[in-house]
Amino acid sequence: MLYRLKNAGFQAYLVGGGVRDLLLGREPKDFDIATDALPDEVRKLFRNCRLIGRRFRLAHIIFGREIIEVATFRAQANDAGEGGIEQEENGRLLRDNVYGNLEQDAWRRDFTINALYYNIEDFSVVDYTGGMDDIEAGLLRVIGDPEQRFREDPVRMLRAVRFAAKIGFRVDEASEAKIYELGHLLQGIPAARLFDEVLKLFLGGYALQTFELLRHYDLFEHLFPATEAALAQEENHFPLTLVTRALANTDERIAQGKPVTPAFLYAALLWEPVRQQGLRLQAEGVAEQQAFNRAAQAVIAQQLQSTSLPRRFSTPMQEIWIMQPRLAKRAGKRAWRLFEHPRFRAAYDFLLLCAEAGEADREVAEWWTRFQEVDEDERAAMVRKLTPKRARRGRRPRKQTPSE
Ligand code: ATP
Ligand code: MG
Repeated sequence: MLYRLKNAGFQAYLVGGGVRDLLLGREPKDFDIATDALPDEVRKLFRNCRLIGRRFRLAHIIFGREIIEVATFRAQANDAGEGGIEQEENGRLLRDNVYGNLEQDAWRRDFTINALYYNIEDFSVVDYTGGMDDIEAGLLRVIGDPEQRFREDPVRMLRAVRFAAKIGFRVDEASEAKIYELGHLLQGIPAARLFDEVLKLFLGGYALQTFELLRHYDLFEHLFPATEAALAQEENHFPLTLVTRALANTDERIAQGKPVTPAFLYAALLWEPVRQQGLRLQAEGVAEQQAFNRAAQAVIAQQLQSTSLPRRFSTPMQEIWIMQPRLAKRAGKRAWRLFEHPRFRAAYDFLLLCAEAGEADREVAEWWTRFQEVDEDERAAMVRKLTPKRARRGRRPRKQTPSE
């Protein structure tokens, strides 16, 4: 793609994470290209090209499952003067759709190590902002004045944490101080954008370190306020164990190339506030099931204000939750019915986590592990062992305690 753009008379560079990761000897997640060709000119060069974005148009070139993003050089807010830049009073950028040249494009990027341009003409790296030195030093440094750049786009604070966790770089001191000071600005970011960012933070393979850094910088509370509150008042360390185990698990799955879903991630992150609120309602006299449902609804409603959660994820998330108490009740035909449930596997994985964290019965979890390993006959025997004798003769088991 770079050569085709060059051959057509345009400048074209590989930029961003692709260059950064290659310099660090890591496999890039995706590739971004910066060019002086306008989106329409890019489209004319590539058949497999789609233009996206209304205000600032980007070209996506599609190769099977890979998408390469081609962006026309843009200028930074204060270079552009009147015209394309719109800022809120607090300095947040609403739109920045002003084209610029290569150097301007470098200065408007977030971190020095993200503003390196690989030039195919002479295999050199173009570096205006000192990114090469920072790569050497292992330093994540905001380009320009950290306060101004974080105010323009508070999501950059989350990006700082994401990159620091992923590549193990230190955040430079000036930027670090401003994160503590300005973290609250995340509350002004649209919930849908924060949801996208949460997925990048937690489904990028470094969820555990990212979570720890987010809490270290007091940013986690702006993404998951109910979870932070629940963790803050944990009595016995279990809740934190559940969350960290879930994140470690997620990282492991990604490392093994297994699929991960936002539904499971959110199920784990929001479980503790749901559990605690459910218990509080029960203490006020609400019946168990109803207390749980109300707690779940309240926590979800609150979460939607911070990071949205599309229904296609919140529905399976709730199914995972609802199946937890049911997994303990396996007698008769129940075990098979649960086993055939489309959400069984996720609910079982969640049960394992809860058991590891001491929040669920280990025996139940182990029973289900074995149930999946053995053949039909053995399964039947397992269920028979659970089923009270009288029930097997055809009568329903009598309730043992009035509360059950
Ligand atoms: P990765 O794709 O590995 O997560 P990346 O650095 O490529 O990391 P992208 O989100 O793909 O991150 O963005 C590509 C590049 O665009 C970045 O490297 C950075 O130069 C620039 N960029 C992205 N988001 C911002 C932002 N909010 N402010 C300034 N520059 C940004
Ligand atoms: Mg990228």
